[in-house]
Amino acid sequence: MTILTSTKDMRKIRSSGDVLKKVFSYVEAKIVPGISTLELDRYVEKIIRESDAVPAFKGYKGFPASICASVNEVVVHGIPSDEVVLREGDIISVDVGAKKNGFFTDATRTFSVGKISSEAERLIDVARKCLEAGIEQAIAGSRLSNISHAIEKVAQKAKLKEVRTFVGHGVGKNLHEAPEVPNWGERGKGPVLKEGLVLAIEPMINSGTRDIDIRSDGWTAVTRDGRLSAHFEDTIIVGQKEAEIIT
Ligand code: MG
Repeated sequence: MTILTSTKDMRKIRSSGDVLKKVFSYVEAKIVPGISTLELDRYVEKIIRESDAVPAFKGYKGFPASICASVNEVVVHGIPSDEVVLREGDIISVDVGAKKNGFFTDATRTFSVGKISSEAERLIDVARKCLEAGIEQAIAGSRLSNISHAIEKVAQKAKLKEVRTFVGHGVGKNLHEAPEVPNWGERGKGPVLKEGLVLAIEPMINSGTRDIDIRSDGWTAVTRDGRLSAHFEDTIIVGQKEAEIIT
């Protein structure tokens, strides 16, 4: 668990978050029909390294790349490949981690490739709103599960399914730390949030079933029914009145 107490550490972790902000602002223009997810990975890795940071996913538990590139029915952990080429109408989530000045940050955006279906657009919109609703609850004195509940509520209202197999997490000194941050649950459970606690909140929202399968590569998580999945994630610092989003 990382609880920041000094302005010096706050500054350090913000500079790590800034690397991911930069990645997303640059990569968006690259997400066009015809580009492979391996090309996206190389592009992102270059941006991270040029920012005096290290790609946090590369080599993590053996993951071979700097981004997780998850297209359409892939929920998370898609491995970049020259065989996965984006086509008009696809959606792709790009999940990236950076380490800079001793601090890890972790974030994800789901992008559309050209013109996408209204179903896909709505899914992306709801997934983003789930993240926003979760972040709103990340205030000191609140209970951890209030974040979880807020996410579930937005998904439920939209008649979409929050994935329960994967959860958000503490981040900061390590890429994945305590506490786990589920994307569902009752309010009022779990630890009381402390000011300065760093969390990666990351709802994954499915169009159809919430159930997932893992492909034979051991990483790629796909929806069991083959329908679409969207994923948004930010690294945030719990604050007195509101969370600070650093990615
Ligand atoms: Mg994460």
